[in-house]
Amino acid sequence: MEKLNTDLLIIGAGPGGYVSAIYAAKKGLDVILVDAKRVGGTCLNEGCIPTKALVKSAELYQEILNSEENGITVSNASFDMSKIIDKKDAVKDKLINGIEFLLNKYNVNTMKGLATFVNDKQVEVKGEQSYLIEPKHIIIATGSKTKYLPIKGSDSKYVVDSEILLDNKTLPKTLNIIGGGIIGMEFAFIYANLGVKVNVIEFLPRVLPGVDKEFSMRLMRFAKKLNIDLLTNAKVTEIEALEDRALVHFEHKGKPKSLESEMVLMAVGRGPKLDGLGLENTTVKFETKTGIKVNEYLETNVENIYAIGDVTNLWQLAHVASHQGIVAVDNILGNKRAMNYDYIPAVIFTSPQIATVGKTESMCKENDIPYEVIKVPYSANGKALILDAEAGYIKLLRNPETLELIGGMVFGKDADNLIAPITIAVANKLTAKDLQETIFAHPTVSELIHEGAMGLDHLAIHFMD
Ligand SMILES: Cc1cc2nc3c(=O)[nH]c(=O)nc-3n(C[C@H](O)[C@H](O)[C@H](O)COP(=O)(O)OP(=O)(O)OC[C@H]3O[C@@H](n4cnc5c(N)ncnc54)[C@H](O)[C@@H]3O)c2cc1C
Repeated sequence: MEKLNTDLLIIGAGPGGYVSAIYAAKKGLDVILVDAKRVGGTCLNEGCIPTKALVKSAELYQEILNSEENGITVSNASFDMSKIIDKKDAVKDKLINGIEFLLNKYNVNTMKGLATFVNDKQVEVKGEQSYLIEPKHIIIATGSKTKYLPIKGSDSKYVVDSEILLDNKTLPKTLNIIGGGIIGMEFAFIYANLGVKVNVIEFLPRVLPGVDKEFSMRLMRFAKKLNIDLLTNAKVTEIEALEDRALVHFEHKGKPKSLESEMVLMAVGRGPKLDGLGLENTTVKFETKTGIKVNEYLETNVENIYAIGDVTNLWQLAHVASHQGIVAVDNILGNKRAMNYDYIPAVIFTSPQIATVGKTESMCKENDIPYEVIKVPYSANGKALILDAEAGYIKLLRNPETLELIGGMVFGKDADNLIAPITIAVANKLTAKDLQETIFAHPTVSELIHEGAMGLDHLAIHFMD
């Protein structure tokens, strides 16, 4: 087995690992990046990018079906699921090829193989060739994997996870989704937009339990329009495999019920991926359920071993993994830098989208944080009307004493882009006045942010504040 030394070994080439690798290499470190699979991790191969490619196709199909109100008549609109999947794969391949090119250009030694710790100082990589690597520093970025409910039938042939569903070329007539979290709800809208009858079975009293109640309740109305049935307070007890379909059994409000479908998506969350990593051969503190423990500097309890991304189980978001990677590399370089999790934007790509950053109203109420809030309807905005998106709204929260903006939420079209300027405002502690003095281009949906800032001082022009 060939022995190698390096400044930095990164295990896992997802958005945590590959970003760390490029950043570290640009900062002059000698870097080895190992992944058991293709570069890009969950995010590029079977997460963020492929799902959003499907969201685009599914929403486009709906738009075509509803194009009449824009004066466009399309008869017999149809789609080819194989071609939708091909388009998704083409996007994914283009991105991954680009990252491979950059890794190569910046002299990152990228290896394909399973990395296993031998002890605190050495890692064995088994691929086409085997290596024993003794690095000065290690970043663990091994990500997460789908959790399965420990119930009878969880392993039945009808049950799939998000990774399998992303490659599914034959749409079922009915899809039962177990779990109404982000992944479950994104797939619910993708499939419902493509005409599949979708049922979501959620254990908690509402779907998207991580966002403000107002948002998830509002989304429920849009789900209803697409004939998505949301069964909340429902505990799945068994998945029974029949000859040509599955029967999902659950308790709903104390009564036993069941729902048939040709496919069942297991979407009850993701847990840290530690298989084969050999952490048991080290003194690194970890738990199978909660991942690797790190401090604000992304340091584990073992000197020179860092962990970032989903494996730390703090935020399961690609952009958090990437940012943690950059912070970890800065710490390795001796530039002490702490992670700040206060202003992390999060977007849910349902139809319509939901995006949040900073404090929400619920958080403020629960923690006795004083706040003022303004809610601006999309119907007050010309571009939103042009985009047939008048059902949305934006909320801005500020601290009434310091007048700094402390949070923002968007429910509606282009929420993914609108949350960016709000994030800049909140993260930089701007005030409503700062935004009032900023000129926003017209006609754009972003003008709603300006309108909100005006509204916080009762100066809104286009709606009654
Ligand atoms: C369906 C879906 C949709 C999502 N959508 C979004 C979204 O819209 N926005 C967003 O921010 N996040 C989204 N996420 C979450 C996002 O994908 C993750 O937060 C992100 O990928 C985490 O990055 P990471 O680098 O920590 O790990 P990962 O991306 O999971 O990468 C880890 C890598 O480590 C490798 N690995 C693991 N163990 C070993 C080992 N022992 N040896 C070698 N290699 C190993 C794996 O092969 C993998 O490539 C989504 C996830 C899913 C499943």
